[in-house]
Amino acid sequence: MRIKKTLIIFFILLIAAALGPPVVFFARVWWRDGAAPLPVATAGTDDASRLNANQPSEVIAIASDPAEAERQLSALVRRAAEQGSHISISGAHHSMGGHTIYPEAIVLDMLPFNRMSLDEKTRILTVGSGARWSEIIPYLDHRGFAVAVMQSNNDFSVGGSISVNCHGWQNDSPPISSTVESFRILTASGSILRCSRTENQELFSLALGGYGLFGVILEVNLRVVPNEFYVAEPHRIDPADYTCNYHDLTWGRSDVGMAYGRINVAPNSFMQAGIITLLKRQPTDRATVDTLTDEKPSLLKRLVFRGGIGSDYGKNLRWWLEKHFGETGGKLLSRNQIMNEPSNLYATRDPASTDILHEYFIPGARLGEFIGKARPVFLKHRPELLNITVRNVEPDRDTFLRYASEEVFGLVLLFHQGRDGASEAAMQALTRDLIDAALSCGGRYYLPYRPHATEEQFLQAYPQAREFFAAKRRYDPAGIFENKFFLNYGRLLSGQPAQER
Ligand SMILES: Cc1cc2nc3c(=O)[nH]c(=O)nc-3n(C[C@H](O)[C@H](O)[C@H](O)COP(=O)(O)OP(=O)(O)OC[C@H]3O[C@@H](n4cnc5c(N)ncnc54)[C@H](O)[C@@H]3O)c2cc1C
Repeated sequence: MRIKKTLIIFFILLIAAALGPPVVFFARVWWRDGAAPLPVATAGTDDASRLNANQPSEVIAIASDPAEAERQLSALVRRAAEQGSHISISGAHHSMGGHTIYPEAIVLDMLPFNRMSLDEKTRILTVGSGARWSEIIPYLDHRGFAVAVMQSNNDFSVGGSISVNCHGWQNDSPPISSTVESFRILTASGSILRCSRTENQELFSLALGGYGLFGVILEVNLRVVPNEFYVAEPHRIDPADYTCNYHDLTWGRSDVGMAYGRINVAPNSFMQAGIITLLKRQPTDRATVDTLTDEKPSLLKRLVFRGGIGSDYGKNLRWWLEKHFGETGGKLLSRNQIMNEPSNLYATRDPASTDILHEYFIPGARLGEFIGKARPVFLKHRPELLNITVRNVEPDRDTFLRYASEEVFGLVLLFHQGRDGASEAAMQALTRDLIDAALSCGGRYYLPYRPHATEEQFLQAYPQAREFFAAKRRYDPAGIFENKFFLNYGRLLSGQPAQER
């Protein structure tokens, strides 16, 4: 009897010793976490960086009715031309470098311009450029379809997504531009043109990935795909051999619907351990319509994620949990469910700080080299790095200012930083070192984020930029469509110094 009691007490103590520290840890993270997501800035007044406070001259909400929107926009472009004023175009303003902002500009809030219709036979969605994925996904889900290529969150507008030429977990695919059949655009001259691979082809390739500098994109014809079900299959890998591992795991496999990788940011094996998760197609009796569920966001997942801030213990714990339990717990999930996640689930709720993204595109053959060069950069700067995800992107044949001229792997880095000047300066120094590492491996960096690159780095990464901005001047000689991205980098090419950052 005594032995039995001793054993019971021993087990209770063992369980308390194992669970006590994480329980106390998560309780502290929960206690410190803000109660609600931070409010999103209104169009033209800031962007997702929360580092771009701005005063527009006016913000105009664009009508949802296409004919009314066209009249409204044409009148605005005429007025801007007559008054010599500027127009900035804003979707969900989740770009982070003032791409939707220009001092004293008229800002177009495109979000209300969101009507859509689907031709199920041709699988073409015709959609107003202000529509967000969070509106499109339920619409398509109800009809058994899904978006072909988009970001890994649902917050973004179609206009913003095609103007940065986004990409996501849809592996072995070029960026979203490859799914755009055509769009209509209102140019600086006031004309409305239809652009596709056969009509106004030059403008098609300039406006896709064109950061709102060539006109207002109106309706977009997007190719969609059938909705389907997946089960996650995680594989532990060595990041130094990421490309080989990825190709070995996916080569010739038609059952892989999506794929992404994570590289460890926890100190125990910082950038020396990784996981590639394949989302494998799963035949099922379940209907592929109305697959979205009203599941409550998991508080525990948020605490696990945010617990990494300022805590090596939190980072190590998160990696251990991801390594042993995966991220989806082996659940059957529809493509639409996976892509329907808002970004604010895991975002900071601290008004004094912000979460900032970077992305580096590295040719497959040199990814290991980049990881080897980036690691000492992090160890030197010691930023608060919360996450690294990896996606492969196939060559982009459509956009002019392209980032994927060949197969590249995008490393998406999520940082947490203060909103003060010193934190910004530290982030700028880190960014420049990481860009140098990427350039030395034949890579590029992604343009919708903070404008920390020097002019030289920008031109080295995007040598086609000179021609791009020359074309901008040709299509828009009065400079009606302006934003801080142009202010920072486009001026270079007219011999004027870049200004804002
Ligand atoms: C949390 C988070 C996660 C992200 N994840 C990913 C990811 O997984 N993959 C990825 O590729 N990117 C990702 N991004 C970057 C994101 O794709 C871009 O910031 C994108 O621009 C967001 O869309 P938006 O509607 O907010 O665009 P906005 O920021 O509103 O606009 C972006 C650019 O498009 C222009 N524009 C917008 N609408 C129009 C229009 N109708 N006509 C002409 N120009 C227009 C704007 O002027 C601006 O230059 C992420 C960003 C954040 C903040």
